Amino acid sequence: MKAMQQVCVLGATGSIGTSTLDVLARHPERFSVFALSGARSVERLFEQCRAFRPRYAVMVDEAAANDLRGRIKGAGLATEVLSGAQALVEVAGHADVDIVVAAIVGAAGLPSALAAARTGKRILLANKETLVVAGGIFMAAVRRGGATLLPVDSEHNAIFQALPREFVGDLEAVGVRSLWLTASGGPFRTLAKEAMERATPEQACAHPNWVMGPKISVDSATMMNKGLEVIEAHWLFNARADQIRVLVHPQSVVHSLVEYRDGSVLAQLGTPDMRTPIAYALGFPERIAAGVDGLDLFKRGLSFEAPDLERFPCVRLAFQALESGGAAAAALNAANEVAVEAFLARRCGFGAIAAAIEAVLDRLAGHAAGSLEDLLEADRAARSAAREFLDAARS
Ligand code: NDP
Ligand code: MG
Repeated sequence: MKAMQQVCVLGATGSIGTSTLDVLARHPERFSVFALSGARSVERLFEQCRAFRPRYAVMVDEAAANDLRGRIKGAGLATEVLSGAQALVEVAGHADVDIVVAAIVGAAGLPSALAAARTGKRILLANKETLVVAGGIFMAAVRRGGATLLPVDSEHNAIFQALPREFVGDLEAVGVRSLWLTASGGPFRTLAKEAMERATPEQACAHPNWVMGPKISVDSATMMNKGLEVIEAHWLFNARADQIRVLVHPQSVVHSLVEYRDGSVLAQLGTPDMRTPIAYALGFPERIAAGVDGLDLFKRGLSFEAPDLERFPCVRLAFQALESGGAAAAALNAANEVAVEAFLARRCGFGAIAAAIEAVLDRLAGHAAGSLEDLLEADRAARSAAREFLDAARS
């Protein structure tokens, strides 16, 4: 391994991006920041450029990029500011980059993650939507490009840690019976269905254990986050739907478990802090400091319960999409993104999120899925079907 690794952090201004920079700052002798990206958060990206001096900063929004350019110039920094979605693809695939942290939210993260795969980078994948929308194509690009894929999502990072090193995509061959994904249950774990219907964006975003971006916070409240993670686990570990189980664990200390044929169950535990899986993936196979407090098991009880699929239909819908195959998961993801955005903007109620996804899944069941273009077309069709459904529900 090279002495100094060049890192590109996509989605640097977000929750995962900021945690990543916190870890990188602890290891200046090991990592150098090559590029940072944001969509609109000029002030935050500017502060990050000042602290990390990257060669490039990408602002997706053109006006925000101009604003950032002015500030960079005023501060006398050498960082070059690029704009537009294509610039994300360029920095992710740049020949000088070793590590790409894919931490953009939503399907918008797919093209740059694919570019990192095709150019053989070490990819730290937080953007689970990449796998949900185009898992087959992305995994093939990782193999062909010779990329190293390391999951940052805490559950998948835990499973990766609990699988034997010799695992190369055949769970049976290493004696695995099931992968158990733990779920906190989110802020509405014990709330009655009628009260959930009236939930506000503020209540949905108040996660008991994690501080995250608004989209994944709502996904956590509907438990669609776990649904997306089921599909993510399918692609990452080549697991069939019947090998993936969901277990509610309100304390978020056991990050996931692997059950073996002989009855052994291996888990990874830790204080809920995303810097642990990020540091694991940055340092792999070495262990590097993450700035995370030790786990005090004297102070914590651990409990487990079955998920309530009646109050949280999104988990069931995700299993359904996984079993349908084709473009179903891309449609599920797109409908979810549109409905979550509408909910956050108070244009629909909490219960409408699952209803919109179910309606869209039914409509797009037979959509073609042979190529990336087919999947992007299914994504577009699902977005417009979801908008139609939500408009009709309001009028
Ligand atoms: P945030 O909303 O906090 O951050 C999202 C980042 O993506 C920001 O940098 C944002 O820029 C940027 N962005 C938003 N829209 C676009 C776009 N259209 N094109 C390019 N960039 C865009 O999200 P999180 O950090 O919470 O989540 C990021 C990803 O990681 C998600 O896929 C999530 O599911 C996954 N993840 C997150 C976890 C967490 O603990 N937060 C845990 C496990 C997975 P700007 O700030 O300028 O808007
Ligand atoms: Mg997770």
